[in-house]
Amino acid sequence: EWTRCQEAMAAAVRDLAVLREKAAREAGEAEAAIFDAHQMIIQDPETEADLQGAIKAGASAEAAVETIFAGEVEKFEALDDPYFRERAADFADVARRLLRRLLGIEEVSLTALDRPAVLVARDLLPSETAQLDRTLVRGFCTARGGPLSHTAILARSLGLPAVVGLGEELLDLAEEEPLIVDGTAGLVLAGADEQERAAYRQRAAASAERRAAALINCREPAVTRDGRRVEIGANIGLPGEEAAALEAGAEGIGLLRTEFLFAGRQTAPAEEEQVRAYRPIFAALGERPVIARTLDIGGDKPAAFLDIPREDNPFLGWRAIRIGLAQPDLLKSQLRALLRAGVGGNLKIMFPMIAVVAEMAAARELCRQAQAELLEEGLAAAADVEIGAMIEVPSAALLADHLAGHADFFSIGSNDLTQYTLAADRGNPAVAALFDALDPAVLRLIDRVIRAGHAAGIWVGLCGELAGDPLAIPLLLGLGLDEFSMGAAAVPAAKALIRKLSLAEAEALAREALDQPSAAAVRDQVYAWLAARELTGWVD
Ligand code: PEP
Ligand code: MG
Repeated sequence: EWTRCQEAMAAAVRDLAVLREKAAREAGEAEAAIFDAHQMIIQDPETEADLQGAIKAGASAEAAVETIFAGEVEKFEALDDPYFRERAADFADVARRLLRRLLGIEEVSLTALDRPAVLVARDLLPSETAQLDRTLVRGFCTARGGPLSHTAILARSLGLPAVVGLGEELLDLAEEEPLIVDGTAGLVLAGADEQERAAYRQRAAASAERRAAALINCREPAVTRDGRRVEIGANIGLPGEEAAALEAGAEGIGLLRTEFLFAGRQTAPAEEEQVRAYRPIFAALGERPVIARTLDIGGDKPAAFLDIPREDNPFLGWRAIRIGLAQPDLLKSQLRALLRAGVGGNLKIMFPMIAVVAEMAAARELCRQAQAELLEEGLAAAADVEIGAMIEVPSAALLADHLAGHADFFSIGSNDLTQYTLAADRGNPAVAALFDALDPAVLRLIDRVIRAGHAAGIWVGLCGELAGDPLAIPLLLGLGLDEFSMGAAAVPAAKALIRKLSLAEAEALAREALDQPSAAAVRDQVYAWLAARELTGWVD
């Protein structure tokens, strides 16, 4: 059984290599990266050991694959961070591939369409999405899945209109029913009249034109009409994603989420393993900055090896830098690995969830120790590494002037800053309406952080979802933000929009927004401002 399992794994890796090659050729590196991630899942030594263990305990190869991968899927589904939760789909995808290999079942071909169509499915696997024939698939909608799944991320990078998570009723649609898929609004319209169809056709054409134009210049810098240049980075959370980031025109990695190394593990990753995981990212980025965020686990992002007791309020509990400082060996081994991997690159390090000044001072000291140790041991370590504080807790925003004395830069984590400011859990749909990063309360904190940073002579970035939101970009620019870091797919449009703006006008807009009474009022104000400049196409 173990031999069969190993053969299926080897065959699946070969299949994925072929698919990768095809995707890179036909669709680009963004789509190809999915297949790299899937190969890594199969080749993970821990998974391999688990499979072997299950087989030794008497399971067939199929049963071993099913149980081990179901366990991984469950682990990822239990994570609070929606980004990681949706990595579960990648494990399910890989498990199915292995099972097909073991059972000799042919892969269903989604390339067998003979005319243009909207695809309606219960769910689409990321690898299926990557193989869609884009000359014929005009869009897709699924009953399951979330907006941060690889399937959705891929749809975005393929430029395919898609709406996911519509619920099982979607599957009641009649075969051949004409559909309009409005990915921007998250709507699927059946039975539209001719007038509606014509309006949508026009919008689709205008949007395609804008996207194509944005992509052409995506490697050019983002400079406003009146000459203000801002840095545009990309957020990545899995090795391999840096290729898509560079292809989209990112000028660096503004947020490297390192949790992929820690999530769902029985033992913490060794320093060497971390060095090996980080190195290719620095190699790909060359002189461009890579801002690595140290481990942001704990609380409701469980890491099996930490054995965290159940907490009533995990978001207010033992997580991120709190764990790092309580278990300095764990954090120091990550810092050592980053410093070693970053040799010859442009490494910057930042700490998540800083709430008080003492945490930043202690984290910085740990970094200094890691550097000194490496030098003592004769190991090469990156030098002159900028150390930053993530500002995602209101207390940190309010004390930014004091924190600035201990940081070389700030990176605002608007996702967490929003949830803590509005006391609205970012993953709870019941309070989703409250969770709005454009709330003036959040904007006032952002304003304060930027001003405190600049007064102390340090630069300020923002790496939450807000950075890539076209409605937020004029505001953040006007507040003086120096660096925007976002999902790779958002980079070309963000740069193109910034090139259409004037800093002076954006500043006036931002000042006014700070005085609005509500997020809705801010949204109306920015929309009207964009409308006056004929720029609403970016947000429609
Ligand atoms: C944030 O909180 O805005 C952030 C960038 O970090 P994460 O989404 O990983 O918590
Ligand atoms: Mg955060």
